[in-house]
Amino acid sequence: MVIAKAWALKKHFDGFPKTSDFDLKKIELPNLKDGGEQKLLLESVFLSVDPYMRPYSRRDMKEGDIMIGTQVARVVESKNPAFTVGTFVVAGRGWRTHFISDGKDLQLLPSNWPESLPKSLALGTVGMPGLTAYFGLLEVCKMKPGETVLVNAAAGAVGSVVGQLAKIGGCKVVGCAGSDDKVAYLKKIGFDEAFNYKTVKSLDEALRKASPDGYDCFFDNVGGEFASVAINQMKKYGRIAVCGAISQYNDSVPQKGPYAQVPMIFKELQMEGFLVTRWNNRREEGLQALLKWVVEGKVKCHEQVTEGFENMPMAFIGMLKGENVGKAVVKV
Ligand code: NDP
Repeated sequence: MVIAKAWALKKHFDGFPKTSDFDLKKIELPNLKDGGEQKLLLESVFLSVDPYMRPYSRRDMKEGDIMIGTQVARVVESKNPAFTVGTFVVAGRGWRTHFISDGKDLQLLPSNWPESLPKSLALGTVGMPGLTAYFGLLEVCKMKPGETVLVNAAAGAVGSVVGQLAKIGGCKVVGCAGSDDKVAYLKKIGFDEAFNYKTVKSLDEALRKASPDGYDCFFDNVGGEFASVAINQMKKYGRIAVCGAISQYNDSVPQKGPYAQVPMIFKELQMEGFLVTRWNNRREEGLQALLKWVVEGKVKCHEQVTEGFENMPMAFIGMLKGENVGKAVVKV
């Protein structure tokens, strides 16, 4: 018998999440039976902490539920011939150390995953955040060579891939992030221009200086005031991919305008919200493209690894505060 540890939402977040909003539980898992049921026992090896957990907890969870989320897990016991012991999978079973599955909800890592490549990347650059960058840029921004792409939260899991894919696509890339170390990281991985949005005197001026002609594409991870300023610097017929609005997720009182309509009309902009799940049927295509670029060294990956399952709430809160460079993950 295995006792799983799991983090529950003790209290719905009110404003910025606090460690006291979480509760560590122990859950006794039944032994796997022989015959009939083709079940598996899995242990989480890496768990993801993502911004969506903040708004989705309010929408989809009740107090006492186990926190939502994905993990890279290893099969430790198998009564299912499709999964041998030792197989690594991606699962969406929330903040748990162990769980039982019939295999239907598990995704194998791509079969050509190199042994030397950290499996945690299946939660980041070669996983959901990487796919978000890939489909958001190709299908929503519809970037073309020679264009200028702006991305915010640029040193994070999605943003750092957006910038690198835009460079591969022949674009000029401008990125904004919340610390000088992050700005140095962006320059290191090939961004043409990068600045710290927290320390510039004027965001408007900094955006203008980085690209005096304006922006063809804006991959918006942040929303709020940043987006309100940036929209005025779009070029005519510019495209805005509304990917995230992290500057608004912790608001108790909704932020008010300025409003987007006037620049949208006179610059004839396209602004489209999207969820990466729209392209679930092209997941394999996206993962193979990302994996290839990572293996070739054309896309660099950085991870902020927090050690210890007991530190999951701290890792989640740290990511929301901007402590991560690249993808924030927890190593059990
Ligand atoms: P990140 O790795 O980028 O981590 C979050 C980052 O957001 C922080 O590091 C911080 O960086 C920045 N941030 C936090 N608060 C603020 C704020 N008030 N203003 C500006 N920046 C802030 O996360 P992800 O890459 O996983 O996600 C990025 C965005 O993409 C999120 O909005 C997320 O919800 C969205 N997303 C959308 C998906 C979709 O399907 N539409 C799928 C996946 C993600 P800094 O130091 O630069 O401030």
